[in-house]
Amino acid sequence: MQKANAKEPLELYKDSDAQLLLSKFLSGEIKKLEPVYDHRTGYTYPAVEAIVGDSSLVQPFLNKLLQAGVLEKKLYDKTISCPSCGSADVSFRYCCPFCKSFDIQRSSLIEHVKCGYMDIEVNFRDGDRYICPKCHTELKKIDVDYRKAGIWCSCNDCKKNFDIPVPEHFCRNCGTVSAFEGAVIRDVYAYTVKESLRNTVTLNWLLVSPIRDFLTDEGFTVESPALLKGKSGTNHSFDIAAYKDKSRQKAIVVDLAKSNEDFVSEQPVIALFAKIFDVSPDRAYLIAIPQLNENGRKMAQLYNIRAVEAKDAKEAVKTFKEKLR
Ligand SMILES: [Zn+2]
Ligand SMILES: [Zn+2]
Ligand SMILES: [Zn+2]
Repeated sequence: MQKANAKEPLELYKDSDAQLLLSKFLSGEIKKLEPVYDHRTGYTYPAVEAIVGDSSLVQPFLNKLLQAGVLEKKLYDKTISCPSCGSADVSFRYCCPFCKSFDIQRSSLIEHVKCGYMDIEVNFRDGDRYICPKCHTELKKIDVDYRKAGIWCSCNDCKKNFDIPVPEHFCRNCGTVSAFEGAVIRDVYAYTVKESLRNTVTLNWLLVSPIRDFLTDEGFTVESPALLKGKSGTNHSFDIAAYKDKSRQKAIVVDLAKSNEDFVSEQPVIALFAKIFDVSPDRAYLIAIPQLNENGRKMAQLYNIRAVEAKDAKEAVKTFKEKLR
């Protein structure tokens, strides 16, 4: 079988936490891993925390899968946390650029189209009507008599006016006020499984790992992927090889084949036969998902290859265990 990624570290196959998360992705239980927000703790990934057990282990774990090329990330949000106490319970304030007060008033700026007079909305107001303070005409229709010309702010403390307020952060936990320059800003990501890996990763993670564990429990030494030397001197690669004796005389070899069609062709049967002809293992298995075609089935029988046909990885593991025992 083709390897998913050349730099995919093999340790990940043995990492049960990684297996568990991946299986949730591949089964569709998790479609996209999005962070969940809590006003005190900020963003967390409860599904991952449930797997790794401790919140401090979540990000290193996700980074590992990201580096291995298994997951992809997309920017989901940016969080601001308090530079003093680290709390994520931080409010955003719009302040006066002159005195930094957050006690500011926001108004719409209105322009009387006919006379060109421009002022804040409140100065046009006369009960529920708009009257131009300059020419005293009533303004009735927006975009005909008058138009909104933007935003105008005034400071209730220093009484100055301005159009663009400055931001400030207020920590609701410890009361610290911080400016943009001092803000602790963190990128928060949503994660998905790399689409191109879905097929191979499914097979590797859901199949190789449980089979490896099972064979290890049965007292085998397991290699995956494995290189075995044949009589010809050539090294042959198998998805899994297991043996009990150090000389590797009585090896069990397993290859995996998956098809997105209804049948797996005879091709992997032929490839496996060519290798076992040279290596002479004790037993050879071909796991075929969902099933071998008629020709492949016949050839497997002829070549003494034990075919394990199953509709999915879970069933394949079960059938393999039964056949081995
Ligand atoms: Zn704080
Ligand atoms: Zn006017
Ligand atoms: Zn002010």
